[in-house]
Amino acid sequence: MGYNAYENFLAVVDKAAKTVGMDEQDYILLKHPERELTVSVPIKMDDGTIKVFEGYRVQHSSSRGPCKGGIRYHQDADINEVRALAAWMSFKCAVVNIPYGGAKGGIKVDPSTLSKGELERLTRRYAASILPIIGPEKDIPAPDVNTNSQIMDWIMDTYSMMQGYTVPGVVTGKDLAVGGSLGRPEATGRGVMITTMNLLEKHNLDPKDISIVIQGMGNVGSVSAKLLYEKGCKIVAVSDVSGGIRNKDGLDIPKVLDFIKDKKKLLKDYESSDVEHISNKELLVTECDVLIPAAMENQITKDNANDIKCSYIVEAANGPTTNEADEILEKRGIILVPDILANAGGVTVSYFEWVQNLQSLTWDLEDVNDMLKKVMDKAWKELDLIASENKLTYRIAAYVLAIRRISTATKLRGMFP
Ligand code: GLU
Repeated sequence: MGYNAYENFLAVVDKAAKTVGMDEQDYILLKHPERELTVSVPIKMDDGTIKVFEGYRVQHSSSRGPCKGGIRYHQDADINEVRALAAWMSFKCAVVNIPYGGAKGGIKVDPSTLSKGELERLTRRYAASILPIIGPEKDIPAPDVNTNSQIMDWIMDTYSMMQGYTVPGVVTGKDLAVGGSLGRPEATGRGVMITTMNLLEKHNLDPKDISIVIQGMGNVGSVSAKLLYEKGCKIVAVSDVSGGIRNKDGLDIPKVLDFIKDKKKLLKDYESSDVEHISNKELLVTECDVLIPAAMENQITKDNANDIKCSYIVEAANGPTTNEADEILEKRGIILVPDILANAGGVTVSYFEWVQNLQSLTWDLEDVNDMLKKVMDKAWKELDLIASENKLTYRIAAYVLAIRRISTATKLRGMFP
């Protein structure tokens, strides 16, 4: 049987709960998503034919507040993946202690095959289909893999047209002109940088002595590369869907980012005498201090975990490491900072955007970045304490923290009816 992200999630939940002696009755709700919606999304293509795509929205938990989480457009999206991503959102919001539950959405589509008009019609029809279950008090979507501020703006508009008035707080990750927040586009990468700095400080390491490999040059990977490069780290290899580039003495990150700025350009076409072209497979086993997977789930598996040559892993993607790989890495003494802390910067600034929308305020970039750092630093300290006091990996410590927070809320609220 193939990889099942939700089963991966459930196994870690049980392991974490068992480690700290929790009774299953205290967290049983967490194993079952509250609500799942599958929708057929028909659109008229530019050539006049009708195509039907499958879409999903899964609300995992609303115990701690409205459900929150992105929407991805990907040809491999399916209900199991979206279900796991929704659960990870509940846990992520709990770890950084923002007042949200978790949700995720997706459409099974390769958006690069659609024209802009088709993409807009797909987005609006999907938004209309999930409309009964979203809203600023219920469930607030955001960008994820292959979705961006333009797509969020269309969702906001579709929802607002149905309500008859503008509702900016229904989605986050919007353009600034329609209620987006300063700092939101860079927030996930900034959070990855902050967490990596906290990890290095904990181990008395100077960023200037550190080599880093980053898998994925989308929004998260490219911002992480830029900010870590600015901290003085040596980024020795990066990759995108087309493959990777490597320079053991450190890549010229501003030049690389400038090249891929134009979204149609791929790293396989990056020409520079100081880089060697490598496959994604080779990239993951390149020698470095910190490996940052910033692409998709299921990348570090039992098949390559033994070959990985780093001391630390910071998960910028959601679910890049399988359970089996986790166990191998732990045995090998590789320290891993899990996704539900490392990439929580995005949803944290989404929360700031939503708060601004609800109050009709706009905050300065400096304030947003300062508050983001405060949230990330606090979560890091709490996690580090649980991990060291109980001798747990950071992943298990993060799950323990999340399970405790969510189950406390569930218990205090009591069972309806
Ligand atoms: N898609 C992002 C994540 O996985 C952001 C979610 C949000 O801002 O709600 O964390």
